[in-house]
Amino acid sequence: MKHITRREFIKFGVTSGSLLALGSGKDLITKTTGSKETVKKVLILGLDGMDPHLLSIWMKEGILPHFQRLASEGDFRALRTSIPPQSPVAWSNFITGMNPGGHAIFDFIHRDPESYIPLFSASRTEEASKTISIGNLVLPLSGGKVNLLRRGRAFWQILEDYDIPATVFKIPSNYPPASTRQKTISGMGTPDILGTYGIFNYYTTEAKEINEDIGGGRIHQVYIIGNRVEAKLPGPTNTFKKDRPESSIDFTVFIDPVHPVAKIAIQDHEIILKEGEWSGWKRIHFSMIPTQSVSGICMFYLKQIHPEFKLYVSPINIDPAQPALPLSTPKDYAQELEEIFGPFFTKGLPADTSALNNDVLDDGEFLEQDDFILEERNKIFDYELDRFDSGLLFYYVSSTDQRQHMFWRLIDKEHPSYDPALASRYGNTIRDIYVQMDNLLARAMQKVDKDTLIMVLSDHGFTPFRRGLNLNTWLKENGYHRLINNWKQGQESFFLNTDWSRTQAYAYGLNGLYINQKGRETEGIVKPGAEKEALVREIARKLEDFRDPQTGERVILRAYVARDVYQGPYVEQAPDIIVGYNRGYRSSWATPLGRIPKPLIEDNAEKWSGDHCMAPEVIPGILLTNQKIRIASPALYDLTPTILNVFGINKTKEMIGQSLFSG
Ligand SMILES: [Zn+2]
Repeated sequence: MKHITRREFIKFGVTSGSLLALGSGKDLITKTTGSKETVKKVLILGLDGMDPHLLSIWMKEGILPHFQRLASEGDFRALRTSIPPQSPVAWSNFITGMNPGGHAIFDFIHRDPESYIPLFSASRTEEASKTISIGNLVLPLSGGKVNLLRRGRAFWQILEDYDIPATVFKIPSNYPPASTRQKTISGMGTPDILGTYGIFNYYTTEAKEINEDIGGGRIHQVYIIGNRVEAKLPGPTNTFKKDRPESSIDFTVFIDPVHPVAKIAIQDHEIILKEGEWSGWKRIHFSMIPTQSVSGICMFYLKQIHPEFKLYVSPINIDPAQPALPLSTPKDYAQELEEIFGPFFTKGLPADTSALNNDVLDDGEFLEQDDFILEERNKIFDYELDRFDSGLLFYYVSSTDQRQHMFWRLIDKEHPSYDPALASRYGNTIRDIYVQMDNLLARAMQKVDKDTLIMVLSDHGFTPFRRGLNLNTWLKENGYHRLINNWKQGQESFFLNTDWSRTQAYAYGLNGLYINQKGRETEGIVKPGAEKEALVREIARKLEDFRDPQTGERVILRAYVARDVYQGPYVEQAPDIIVGYNRGYRSSWATPLGRIPKPLIEDNAEKWSGDHCMAPEVIPGILLTNQKIRIASPALYDLTPTILNVFGINKTKEMIGQSLFSG
């Protein structure tokens, strides 16, 4: 969700309220873990974004021997992804065995048809409904709640009904973790301590670097006075105070006058770092009222001391030892892992792609951070693999996805941000993560016996993202979207300059297009029924015909009409059209939050250069199994009945797929 400005992040933060309003974490769990001894076992590696085309190339080269072995002994197929192929949507298909009509996750971003305001699709926080005010303090009387918005039962909840144990590590689209006695820990969708998808802090003396409002980060101007830097680390909003001030922690950096080394004094920590050194995890406490504080963990990176001072502080992750928001089921599973391994990344997508995209971290520094993430995951994986002797183990890796997003520019000479010097240095980054996944698979395969089904899957593949379509600009130029002031075009987000009384359609999120429908949208003008149907078909047809004026290529491969492709009780909540971009194209950075820039199509000159929010046909995921697959064209939602089938459980009537081994 890059390029959402800091203010927008806070305003539309995933928890959009207080961590403290939640009380000290609601007990989700009352029972103990599923305990039936199973003969059959299922081991699943979820490697986000692993691409079948790249995998095939490197398997042929012989650098992925374990993928090769699994493919030759079992099967390797392209895996049909979701419409649209966004991770929260795709993993929800896998979790529930349904498509978005059944699980109600259609995009990273949904919208409120009453206010035309964007909403994060994954979770919603309700603040404490009753409070008491004492002087300047506001105390919650009843705990608030954070709700998972994904609908439908997760496969591990169904396994639980049959007492089959499951451990599910960081599966996306499961924050807060769905109620279960199985061991689960939440992944993508889990906020940082501010309730956002991650905001770093960066302290610098270099004036030209100051831009307060970059997406995903805050830049602070600091001064060196007498070899000291005084600064503040911002924390969560203090909802115990009436004016809801931002909490913060003061800290001091003492700079060695001779050597490139500094000491950071923050609370009870004295952190000595050389230039170019990371601190490892540090636990900090934001004090709210004398009896309440919020605990978080963060890493410091001393990027530079001379000639300019540059200090990076990672987004403050929720402390797994004292989670301010629910991270796991049972509640103490996160604490169990923390006791064994120490603090670990809890933020949904842990790699700081915003810091890299904004040149706060360079390529090497970003990869150092991502290596920490992989090291942590490897340790926890080995631990879980060691004790896996029954039921199901699902294990998830995000680095495959994140590295492809950020480093595609260095394997694609046609990309606007291709850089030959960087390519010679970091051009193997994507290849290297595939090799690392081969090592992970090697360890998993050692554990596999004849009674274990192993599945290695990704939610989608990857393609270049070279050009971005301003979809709302396209709607405007084709007469479907009208502005109040044309001279103001491009200045506002959230359609603040839109004349709804003359607007027929608008686009929010990465692939969604909505009709301004009478009776649904507050200022809707298009009548449901025949009028809307005709408009939807007309726009879909025009989108599919549209060509990039610069290259002559089709920009949109498929414009899906929701009613044609979704089944289930939530189809009415879907965007009316789901836009499936052609290879190389995606929705622009301005589109997801309702901005309407003047250019129709723009080069994507960002480091975020690979993507997957295209038409599902161009971006299948991978599926490898140690058994022969018997169905023709497997899809993510086929894997759910497959899992149940292994344990002798019939799929539910809501599930739309079939077992891989049926037929
Ligand atoms: Zn991705």
